[in-house]
Amino acid sequence: MKLEISCKACQEKIRIKSNAISRPELAGIMGDRFSYRCDSCAIQKKYHVNEVVAAESNLVKVVGIVFGLSVIVVTTLFFWNKGYITNLGFILGGGIIFGSTVSSSSSTSHAFNKYRITSYDED
Ligand SMILES: [Zn+2]
Repeated sequence: MKLEISCKACQEKIRIKSNAISRPELAGIMGDRFSYRCDSCAIQKKYHVNEVVAAESNLVKVVGIVFGLSVIVVTTLFFWNKGYITNLGFILGGGIIFGSTVSSSSSTSHAFNKYRITSYDED
């Protein structure tokens, strides 16, 4: 999981260098409001911890899709060589692809994004 904010100056995504796995944990480390310098434009702006967005690294999803596709191909070829066609490969491979995409959206990053810190010091 990676934590990002959109730069208020150039709109680039800035990677937050923290291993926090929840918003309260991140708030505990960085504070509810913190200043952060953009890697792209080097402008420092103030951000609220609620503006941080968690994203799953796409690697998990890509590996799942590639693995699922190879299961489809291998299973189909195997049964093809045996002289008949089956949907088994599509069911298995499709299940793996579905599982890897769904699990990555219902994981810690999803929980992180749902949670909002209640802050009393308004601007
Ligand atoms: Zn920037």
